[in-house]
Amino acid sequence: MNGKKLQMNRLWAPWRMEYIQMNKDTGCVFCMKSKSIDDESNLILYRGNESFILFNLYPYTNGHLMISPYKHTSDTNEISDDCNKEIMFFANQSMNILKICLNAEGFNFGANLGKCGGAGIEDHLHYHIVPRWRGDTNFMPVLGGTKVVVEGLKDTWNKLKPHFEKITGN
Ligand SMILES: [Zn+2]
Repeated sequence: MNGKKLQMNRLWAPWRMEYIQMNKDTGCVFCMKSKSIDDESNLILYRGNESFILFNLYPYTNGHLMISPYKHTSDTNEISDDCNKEIMFFANQSMNILKICLNAEGFNFGANLGKCGGAGIEDHLHYHIVPRWRGDTNFMPVLGGTKVVVEGLKDTWNKLKPHFEKITGN
């Protein structure tokens, strides 16, 4: 069985608008998740002092993670040095784990700032880590409409979580 191919079958991103709509009705998703204690339901992988790592529920590829400060702000100027340092540390740790667990061959790492920067949730800063594989762009348009498999996300969360539990110091 080709594990990589299986993962590629879980590429999806079709419900983005629904997500944005839902966010407007229920308040800030990042604040809500960071305050919740149910990390499993929220697919949170790790909590630091200043920020936390979680799954994107509407991912572009399998293993699409996000790192978000606890602070509710859209302005990178308002993020403390300690928080910026922690986010970069978590980004490195996350990419190392995604290489080991999902054989990621490359990454897109960054933030969409402001509505015209493409932010889905523009009020609360979050950095995306999107693992990439050679040739995956060939699959994306084809699988763009593939139905979301929530179990797939949970499987990946279960796979990654023990590695994130080993993160220490920053
Ligand atoms: Zn918030």
